[in-house]
Amino acid sequence: MSQSPVWHPFWQHGMGLPIPKVARGEGAALILEDGSRVIDAISSWWVTTHGHNNPRIMAAIRAQTEKLDQVIFAGWTHQPAEDVARGLVAMLPEALTRVFFSDSGSTCVEVALKMALGFWANTGEPRHRILVMEHSYHGDTIGTMSVGERGVYNAAYAPLLFDVGTIPFPHADGSNTIAALEAACREKPAALIVEPLVLGAGGMLFYPPAVLAAMAEVCRRHGVLFIADEVMTGFGRTGTLLACEQAGVVPDILCLAKGLTGGSMPLAVTVAQEPIFAAHWSTDRARLFYHSSSYTANPIACAAAVENLAMWREEPVMARIEALGRNQQALLDRLAALPGAQNPRRCGTIIAVDFATPDGGYLSALAPHLMAFARDNGVLLRPLGNTVYVLPPYCITTEDLARVGDVVEAGLAAMQGAA
Ligand code: PMP
Repeated sequence: MSQSPVWHPFWQHGMGLPIPKVARGEGAALILEDGSRVIDAISSWWVTTHGHNNPRIMAAIRAQTEKLDQVIFAGWTHQPAEDVARGLVAMLPEALTRVFFSDSGSTCVEVALKMALGFWANTGEPRHRILVMEHSYHGDTIGTMSVGERGVYNAAYAPLLFDVGTIPFPHADGSNTIAALEAACREKPAALIVEPLVLGAGGMLFYPPAVLAAMAEVCRRHGVLFIADEVMTGFGRTGTLLACEQAGVVPDILCLAKGLTGGSMPLAVTVAQEPIFAAHWSTDRARLFYHSSSYTANPIACAAAVENLAMWREEPVMARIEALGRNQQALLDRLAALPGAQNPRRCGTIIAVDFATPDGGYLSALAPHLMAFARDNGVLLRPLGNTVYVLPPYCITTEDLARVGDVVEAGLAAMQGAA
């Protein structure tokens, strides 16, 4: 395996392991500098939907580079951005009409939080509290860490921001969550932010659509804004375009990133219902919504998103997702039979299994062990503590997925053998 020297003391999230150097992407695989092939079993952190270097998306990017690379988006516009906005509004539930651009999952969540707080400030009855679900993750900026509930990511930066209220993760029928949410809503919070159906970085924890629907209903009854962070779950991951669809929920504010460009370029959107927009649309400059950064709605990233939306319209993407779901179920059944397997679960194209280890939790030694073993055997895996999950690009072949299973099995056996 080709490796880069560790030349930077803050090399990102390397877990102290040697760092592979990637030269190219090819569908569900990465090709390293030495020519070896690595199956990307986690879609490079849940980003790549149609596979690396998808020919349609790459062609759209190349075509856009001939026209316009980058332009200010504050008070200016361009065709690719308008096409993204129009294409999205046509695909999303009818009430989601106002598209605000940014450039990463974290920034689109920041935007959503600012929109929610700005909405209440502009009503003349400011509300400050943001409700969050236990074990949630919404990004790594200070604002998004503040509404995240994962000590290992954010504990060092306490006290962080906002007046935050935490509701518990649903057990069984979710009545614990709903009762806590009812009580919390009586204190007039500004908004609830949730990852619909799947809490990703918190450990691939799943909860049923009925609980999501019940949470949205409580928020609606109390007039609390409902923010859906579909940065990971959006664009088919859970088996539907949006996870919210499975619960019949239309959020007041929706966050999308990752799969928006098929995972090829950094772009994100926050899509709001009309009242959120109306609260900010004014000749009074103090009421306006201020959020802009240099690369907001970058035209090349927008061109990639336009092509992704066209693929969703023109290709049998949903059939691919359903086929992958079936293959993932077969892999899950196999992993569930391994020694120490607990809580095997699948939501659409995502599978996860916890493995009993002496040191459970996020800092379990299983994660660096399996990550290194898999890398040395041609698979990119990224366990969350003792939770092993597989979340591949939709184009992964049955053979590659079976190979992922072989490597997980051998990696766990090697660890158990060494213990
Ligand atoms: N929200 C969720 C649910 C996520 O999973 C992530 C990233 N894993 C983010 C927000 C942040 O996205 P980004 O890494 O693009 O900032």
